[in-house]
Amino acid sequence: MLHVGKSKDTGTEAGIASVIKGIASVRDELLSSGVMLLFETVAGQGSEVGAKFEDLNRIIEGLPLDLRSHVGVCLDTCHVWSAGYDLSTKEGIETTVNAIKRTFGLEKLKAIHLNDAKGVLGAHLDRHEHIGLGTIGKGFGHFLNHPAIAPIPKILETPDDEQGGFAEDLVRVKEFLH
Ligand SMILES: [Zn+2]
Repeated sequence: MLHVGKSKDTGTEAGIASVIKGIASVRDELLSSGVMLLFETVAGQGSEVGAKFEDLNRIIEGLPLDLRSHVGVCLDTCHVWSAGYDLSTKEGIETTVNAIKRTFGLEKLKAIHLNDAKGVLGAHLDRHEHIGLGTIGKGFGHFLNHPAIAPIPKILETPDDEQGGFAEDLVRVKEFLH
């Protein structure tokens, strides 16, 4: 699982081309290893590539056909929220799921990093918060129970501080499930 990187001052186009070239350069290793590479959705800080689903899809579609079955996407809830995809309401989550369907597709969504966020929608801020205690908040009730999202494996990446750690966040996640 990786953040695909920054394009610095070369622009998004060159950034996407560079990622495709980089992955193609480990083609033999990727095909023989049985490993699947997951591109993580990022918050879009600075020149980060991979905040827009369209950009991740262009990387996937830019790869040779035989490599495409060896790559997928990890959706980080804090990052997509920070990138401007609304997860705080039922409507926003539906729009986000539809955006996935229109781009890389649900079949490419292999994992979810579960984090609430400290920043507001579209802030491009990569600051994780405990589940339900951040700006996404009660949105997790809709998100976790969405039929497209419920079956996907999820990994907590929440902070460890005075409000608890993974054990407490797991309890918070379970409270949202129905
Ligand atoms: Zn993450």
